Amino acid sequence: MKKVLVTGGCGYIGSHTIVDLINNGFEVISVDNNINSDLKVLEGIREITGKRVKNYTIDLCDLEKTKKIFRNEKIDGIIHFAALKSVGDSVFQPIQYFNNNLVSLLNVLTCCEEFKVNNFIFSSSCSVYGNAKDLPVMEDTPFEEAECPYARTKQMGEKIIHDFCVPNKDFKAINLRYFNPAGAHESGKIGESSRNAPTNLVPVITETAVGKREEVVVFGDDYDTRDGSCIRDYIHVMDLANAHTKAYQYLHDNKNSDNCEVYNLGIGEGVSVLEAIAAFERSTDQKLNYRIGPRRAGDVVAIYANLENASSKLGWKPTRNIDDIMRTAWVWEQ
Ligand code: NAD
Repeated sequence: MKKVLVTGGCGYIGSHTIVDLINNGFEVISVDNNINSDLKVLEGIREITGKRVKNYTIDLCDLEKTKKIFRNEKIDGIIHFAALKSVGDSVFQPIQYFNNNLVSLLNVLTCCEEFKVNNFIFSSSCSVYGNAKDLPVMEDTPFEEAECPYARTKQMGEKIIHDFCVPNKDFKAINLRYFNPAGAHESGKIGESSRNAPTNLVPVITETAVGKREEVVVFGDDYDTRDGSCIRDYIHVMDLANAHTKAYQYLHDNKNSDNCEVYNLGIGEGVSVLEAIAAFERSTDQKLNYRIGPRRAGDVVAIYANLENASSKLGWKPTRNIDDIMRTAWVWEQ
């Protein structure tokens, strides 16, 4: 059986991807230092899949400890999720972000080289595009200036992987650029549970509805969009998880035409903040307390993906929409 090392396996997207990998016959091990997660998530994974996943509680910035995993396990490939991900925090702690996100990546690649592990998938982000000039965003849309240190770690991470692929011809990498992951596993047993207060729209909505927050503030309704609020491409986390399984299988089967490929992962549709709120109210039968506030500095007005490449090359198609996202996120919140 193919053994995949999932870094950041206790995190939000990592845990959902582990479920999808197991459901598709992969053996999985995880490494996570739980800087933004809890080991309890492994119990949720066990309840859903019936499998107990082994986690190495190791900081990937420690090269010697990271090497130990590769010595102990016969790894077929890696899906590298582990990173710090808060846009806002990264502005105030740039060194922590560069250090954590880049050193961990360098260490994992060092191990790939030393232990000859040749399948590699990297969690990138639509934030690499910055304020893209043309929509929808294609994979060859040029990177604009990064809006924050977090986004820069993703731009740099992709470039490091690209350069690593040049001399390492047997190494195969895919950079997956996620748009806005949201929602939870249908069982309600795993979901988004950061140690830090979330700033993404969907958890802010569900936390308000459940009474943890007073209100949702819509940052601006005077943008040049169909209802004046910002537009994003929300992708259900289980669809996103399945894209990783498909991408991994694609690399494993040597279907890649280049040893460093890139795919956008969104659902290819923009949903405005006000439409997302309406979807929440419609799909959960809840009334949400929200108000319109001023624009927020640094917000990109509208961004959504073109997912033509991911669907034609990886054979992946998202099957859930914004209502499914809201419904499952609400079950998880409760
Ligand atoms: P998350 O914080 O829930 O998961 C990341 C996991 O990595 C956490 O469990 C954390 O404890 C672990 N980790 C961080 N640094 C580590 C280190 N040095 N050693 C070991 N473990 C470490 O985040 P997520 O939402 O699941 O995101 C996963 C990946 O996807 C990240 O790389 C993130 O930047 C990227 N991404 C996320 C989003 C999003 O909206 N959630 C969007 C685009 C890209």
